[in-house]
Amino acid sequence: VLKARNLAKAFGSNVVLRDIDIDIRRGQVVALIGPSGSGKTTVLRSLNGLEIPDAGTVTFGGTGRGPGSGPSSETSDDLSIDFGTKVGKREIAALRDRSAMVFQHYNLFPHMTVLKNIIEGPVQVQKRPKAEAIAEAERLLERVGLADKRDAYPFELSGGQQQRVGIVRALALQPQLLLFDEPTSALDPELVGDVLGVIKELAEEGWTMVIVTHELAFAQHVADEVIFMDGGVVVERGPAAEVLRAPRQERTKLFVKRLQ
Ligand code: ATP
Repeated sequence: VLKARNLAKAFGSNVVLRDIDIDIRRGQVVALIGPSGSGKTTVLRSLNGLEIPDAGTVTFGGTGRGPGSGPSSETSDDLSIDFGTKVGKREIAALRDRSAMVFQHYNLFPHMTVLKNIIEGPVQVQKRPKAEAIAEAERLLERVGLADKRDAYPFELSGGQQQRVGIVRALALQPQLLLFDEPTSALDPELVGDVLGVIKELAEEGWTMVIVTHELAFAQHVADEVIFMDGGVVVERGPAAEVLRAPRQERTKLFVKRLQ
């Protein structure tokens, strides 16, 4: 689905990403782990066009949307962006259309109802028929157990409920790739399980996902591959069980040990 090459980003003199390569296959779940400040969020935001890297390329392959979408025999819908050249608004919009982000702090629009939060992107940005977007939103809300919260405002919901709405909002965009930025780190411990449960179901359904997380047990449970970043570089990557249980690099060993 996705191939990112040589992503580099600095904020002033603070070099945050150096030469990051990431490959994600259709249906694959990748957990991105690493210490605070290692650049994980910046990687996610770069894949989604919320951050523009200074250099590198991002290529999304193939056609289709939703779970199981991605490379097909056709290549006409490949999208390739070279951040080393000037990147225009239209390219950023095309990049943003390929993936959808679930944020650490939910980022729901506070003045909109749950339903409005969900249909805003599909209707305003993707120009889908409103009735269709509403029907899809209701179906997805039902699925995460929040059908009765359709007309509520975000402040009326618990953090766990808000995050489930955040996930539904991402799903409603029918992206090729779902990006989760520490989706449970702002939640009270008793609400974490519900949200992780929803993410696990999505993995089983075949969604392609990148998850930034500090929940190593969860990562080992759902991720096919784990990428460990430190200091803006990928230190180690491989099957979840190998990286988390038998890391090869010293820095990975220390990190994994500290979080266990
Ligand atoms: P955390 O686990 O704490 O979220 P992270 O691994 O996701 O950390 P990033 O959020 O990607 O790390 O941040 C990496 C570095 O980039 C940090 O030093 C941060 O201060 C810096 N940074 C991120 N966004 C910006 C920005 N918009 N302007 C300036 N510096 C930034």
